[in-house]
Amino acid sequence: MNEQSFNVAPGDMTAIACEECGNEGFRPIVFLRKISRFISPDGQEHIVPLESMECAKCNHINKEFNPIPKKEKENDK
Ligand SMILES: [Zn+2]
Repeated sequence: MNEQSFNVAPGDMTAIACEECGNEGFRPIVFLRKISRFISPDGQEHIVPLESMECAKCNHINKEFNPIPKKEKENDK
């Protein structure tokens, strides 16, 4: 998440609330993903941090914050 500050009044911004419980408090979390050396551009294994936000109340991650969209097709199995 970028922490740029924009010249916009807080009242003009849209509040983001948790999809599950409606809470507006979030905290940063980090997902870790590993790039295997087979697909890595430099042939080395890499750990990649993916930053996101979770609800501070129920730990739910809103869809728009989820860096790893769930594959719907996995339900077909
Ligand atoms: Zn929540």
